[in-house]
Amino acid sequence: MRKKIVAGNWKMNNDLAQTELLLKDLKKQIIPEDVEVIIAPPFTNLHHSFVSLRDHPIGVAAQNMHQSNEGAFTGEISAAMLKSVGVESVILGHSERRAYFKEDDALLAEKVNTALEHELDVIFCIGEELEDRKKDGHFNVIKTQLENGLFHISENNWKQVVIAYEPVWAIGTGETASPEQVQEMHEYIRRMIAENCGSELAESVSVLYGGSVKPENAGEIFSQKDVDGGLIGGASLDAESFMAIVNAFP
Ligand code: PEP
Repeated sequence: MRKKIVAGNWKMNNDLAQTELLLKDLKKQIIPEDVEVIIAPPFTNLHHSFVSLRDHPIGVAAQNMHQSNEGAFTGEISAAMLKSVGVESVILGHSERRAYFKEDDALLAEKVNTALEHELDVIFCIGEELEDRKKDGHFNVIKTQLENGLFHISENNWKQVVIAYEPVWAIGTGETASPEQVQEMHEYIRRMIAENCGSELAESVSVLYGGSVKPENAGEIFSQKDVDGGLIGGASLDAESFMAIVNAFP
């Protein structure tokens, strides 16, 4: 049985006061026992979130980290720093990091290694742009991102990895991939893992979908055979919407 996971990527939203309010609302909600729920607040609110959620099943993830262990990297945050404030996992390869901060597959492979060495779980994001899909190149983009960023890890390390398929054209646009498009790509991702790392392992890896998931469309997306949950942006900023998504599994 693969883990069902719903993770909320808050992006650069919520100062401390807003974080306190959202945490308070989230803690009022009942979390289903069979769903792992994670929030990814900005760096400044990670420790506060961890302390606030200490006796609560919601886990705390970071949205990024630096690939080096320490040193002269002004403005950056290391894996050890994240661990020291209670963070359990980190989102790597989000399309906004790839596009605005020029993070490429080679850099992401380094970040993956560092995160795994520090026993942080990794939510590894992959996704094609609209142009790729129009040219029918979307499968190739996903294959390359997986091969160059992730497939070098050891079999043992896969236990710490979750994949999030996020077509760039569906992120923050209100345009969701159709359930058929999502299933088709998730099946492809699982096939790629099977070919590179074995079918038993492929069956065990949770693959999340991200891109304009809302309470209204989550149920249909989560009913697809190879979809194990979602990475949620906008809708994770409202406790009720986020929890409606968490409860949308069939
Ligand atoms: C995201 O940024 O990971 C995301 C899926 O955003 P949204 O849900 O807002 O499209």
